[in-house]
Amino acid sequence: MKPKNKFQRNIVEASKNLQPLTSKQIQWGLEHSINHVGHKSAKKIVTCTKCGHQWKSDTKRKHEKCPHCGTRLTIHEGRKRIFNDCGYFTVITACKDYQVVRSVMVKCSLRVGKPAEYEWAEVMQRWIAPNGEHVTFTRLRQTMGTLYYDLWLFYTPLELRKENHIFNLVHSGTVCPFMSATHELRKRGFKKSFYGQSPLNFFHTLLTDNRMETLLKTGQTKLLRHFMEHPKENVEDYWQSIRICNRNGYKVHDAVTWCDYIDALKYLGKDVRNMKYVCPQNLSREHDKACRKVVERELEKEMNGNTPKFLSKEHCYLLSKGRFFGLSFSDGVICVKVIESVKDMILEGRAMHHCVGRYHTKKDSLILSATINGKRIETVEVSLSQMKVVQCRGVCNSNTEYHDRIIKLVEDNAEQIRQRMKQVA
Ligand SMILES: [Zn+2]
Repeated sequence: MKPKNKFQRNIVEASKNLQPLTSKQIQWGLEHSINHVGHKSAKKIVTCTKCGHQWKSDTKRKHEKCPHCGTRLTIHEGRKRIFNDCGYFTVITACKDYQVVRSVMVKCSLRVGKPAEYEWAEVMQRWIAPNGEHVTFTRLRQTMGTLYYDLWLFYTPLELRKENHIFNLVHSGTVCPFMSATHELRKRGFKKSFYGQSPLNFFHTLLTDNRMETLLKTGQTKLLRHFMEHPKENVEDYWQSIRICNRNGYKVHDAVTWCDYIDALKYLGKDVRNMKYVCPQNLSREHDKACRKVVERELEKEMNGNTPKFLSKEHCYLLSKGRFFGLSFSDGVICVKVIESVKDMILEGRAMHHCVGRYHTKKDSLILSATINGKRIETVEVSLSQMKVVQCRGVCNSNTEYHDRIIKLVEDNAEQIRQRMKQVA
């Protein structure tokens, strides 16, 4: 493709000055982009397919390090003696004011008893300008009659091409540590890490978003990563609080919980610019506390907004299940107790993140809450007609280690439930 505008023409011109990859970079890439194999014979002799070294190994490990060349090998047992692999590595180079992200494809043929043979070619370059805009140079791909998107034709020239979403799939995460960055990126705090993002994406974000730059420079890398991975969550919504954290040298270590906590504070009408709230010593405890308050507040709303209706729900529940109230069983550790109101049922559902909240209308069900030292462990549903446990679930519908014990405890006490059924409602 011919350059279409000044921006593209400038980059094509600059690309003539791009230095070839260094042998150090290539050496690193060949070692790290390929999954090298250690072939293990029936006599437990391992052959390194990279350097050919052989040694005896009695371990059953899936991976071993070659004692001669130090390569990490995946151990293969069996007759297969030829292994082919291919992979990518990325080299980060500055060229004038442009940051270049270079993808190199490596093809490798590994044969037991022969040194590894490598073939490699630089197949793609993303050129990123100081304003974050970019263009892409690639070789051509074989696209006819194949399902693979990356059959690069090594002999075709590396030229400016029209953008294609497929280019974004090429990044492998194997980034060569021998890199150089532009003045602009260094100024914005780029060191060497990409925090799990693709280099193009990371550079673009850093060059176009001052807030991300601030997060990087203030070491709020958990937040940085969180907002880059969740573009729908707006860093703007938390910015006031983040500034307070930075001013007080408070680092957020769990971004999901912290953001959730700030949301809860806002809902509760707390001052999210007050360090007392936004920089908690024990985040997980304060988070849980705030979330409980949110639940209570919502519950209050639900009950106050519709008092007669809610009271009639409670009344119906009392009529149908009241005869079981007061029932509780314990084995000394676990305590299982009948839930005695619709309100408690809703609280149970909210706390356990499952839908037991609506079970108060089920005629055949009796719902019990299993706790240890007052902490909710699982919620139990007993079928009154079958007199057995039909459901027993922990937080988010998962089972806990106490699962079987809880079921047994309830079923061992089924007679007590049966006795109550005989009572007239
Ligand atoms: Zn070796």
